[in-house]
Amino acid sequence: MAKPFDCLLRLRFICTPTLVALCWVFFSCENQQPQTAQLVILGGEYYTADSAVTDPQSIAVIDGKIALVGTRDEAQSWIGPNTKVLDGDGLFIMPGLIEGHGHFFGLGQSLHNLNFLKSTSWDSIAAMLVQKVDQTPENHWIIGRGWHQEKISIPADQSVQGYPTHQYLTEAAPNNPVMLTHASGHALIANLKAMQLAGVSKESADPAGGHILRDANGNPTGVFEERAMEMIKSAFNESQTTLSKSDKDKQRELWLKLAQSECLKKGITTFHDAGTSIEDLIWLRQYTDSVDIDIRLWLMIREKLEDLQGQLSQFPWIGLADDHLTVRALKSEIDGALGSYGAWLLKPYNDKPSFDGQNTTPLTNLKGIAELAKSHKLQLCVHAIGDRGNRIVLDLFEEMFKAQELPNTWRWRVEHAQHLHPDDIPRFAELGAIAAMQAVHCTSDAPFVVERLGVDRAYQGAYAWRSLLETGAWVSNGTDAPVEDVDPLPSLYASFTRKRPGDTEAFMPHQTITRQEALFSYTMANAYAGFEEHLKGSLTVGKLGDITIFNKNLFNCPEDEFLDAKVEYTIIGGRIVYQRQGH
Ligand SMILES: [Zn+2]
Repeated sequence: MAKPFDCLLRLRFICTPTLVALCWVFFSCENQQPQTAQLVILGGEYYTADSAVTDPQSIAVIDGKIALVGTRDEAQSWIGPNTKVLDGDGLFIMPGLIEGHGHFFGLGQSLHNLNFLKSTSWDSIAAMLVQKVDQTPENHWIIGRGWHQEKISIPADQSVQGYPTHQYLTEAAPNNPVMLTHASGHALIANLKAMQLAGVSKESADPAGGHILRDANGNPTGVFEERAMEMIKSAFNESQTTLSKSDKDKQRELWLKLAQSECLKKGITTFHDAGTSIEDLIWLRQYTDSVDIDIRLWLMIREKLEDLQGQLSQFPWIGLADDHLTVRALKSEIDGALGSYGAWLLKPYNDKPSFDGQNTTPLTNLKGIAELAKSHKLQLCVHAIGDRGNRIVLDLFEEMFKAQELPNTWRWRVEHAQHLHPDDIPRFAELGAIAAMQAVHCTSDAPFVVERLGVDRAYQGAYAWRSLLETGAWVSNGTDAPVEDVDPLPSLYASFTRKRPGDTEAFMPHQTITRQEALFSYTMANAYAGFEEHLKGSLTVGKLGDITIFNKNLFNCPEDEFLDAKVEYTIIGGRIVYQRQGH
């Protein structure tokens, strides 16, 4: 970057200058525009996530990277005729928010499909379905997500073991197969048409690692838990295989665009995707070769062991499409979710004393996936919710790390790390394993955590943010969208309050972290969890110009105003990719 000062320096080294040459040099320097910024933000209040930066008042971005974090006067000299200048006064400027664990295509699909996250009754879900049936051709699948039996009222005659039955769905949609996934993603409800297509009947046996709910007569009620979901899903997938390639590509593009615009609106500049098939990844790579996308995607490969073998030599992909596409991790899972009794526990459930949860991936397969990750130098990210699930995953990491280089060069991740035995809490820091958590799960699950685990287990190791940080572990943050809304604010709020919006009481408040730690978890910790701390996570000169701007100071606004904060601008690589209306 040539600055006027550079020109003067250059003059000093001219040994035998003629007057003409001197004039020429002087003239050219005078006329040479110093390189100017594409974007300058003047003023505002800052959270930089970089303790080396003191009293920042302005930022300049050149060629997609942060070139200055400094004073207003310094920033003024970077403004040229083509510089976009933002007035930061009254605004809060922070590093671009990173979603640390979500499902990108799942989010896009959920925005396209029925969404019941805000539904409070089974009647209202059925009413939404009736509307969708009107817009859907016969025999086409209707997909939805987000219901939770603990959060909706269910008529008594339509409830078995606390879950709704398929009766309403079957009446509302007699000619369309319907598949509505539970908010946790670990159970689903299907209507009769879908069960018929899947070949499910009274005689169908429970598959290993899964459960078909049945009524008093042994008939399937429509609810399928964990691995049993695959019976319905494979019927749906079968219908998708008949889609033409161009229909499939159109569908992917639609989901990508829906997910992207939702993320940008909510201030997210990078999205960690917790598991996409190799086929979808290859499509994404081809797509980003020809079409510019705004959001930066960091994705985990998710396939069964047998489908991974022989397919991994093409990975990792790091920083493709101008740092918009990175694939350097494998995803697996050891157990299910707490709400649907899938979390694998060391001791039985408090409210299901004969049951200790489900192991969803056979341990030999999990080890096989870990070995593939190791030999291909990929990160391994394993979903673990229950304390037994977490312990076995940490044991596996420890076994794989043995006699290897320093563990923090691996950064293997435990996705969720929700319920930990106190003995296992220090092991994350010892192993250099990342606790890839989602604070909003804590507050969403709060109504049933004590029921499932009992007070002692919940107190000692449920969503143990503070304890993990105190041991020196890296704790990343996110929402698991579309399990939860992708909005980072409720998750940040849950991190430092352990409350949902409107709650007066905090859930296990001894595990609360500070606001600063919460903001750090959504920026630097997430960057670190993806080996990207040299590129992202703080407002530091040389890093990518990814910046999120709010209308309120998230650092010091009153707690009851925090959730009212609005994203004013989302900036990626110095380009404004979202701007709130009215600005
Ligand atoms: Zn997930």
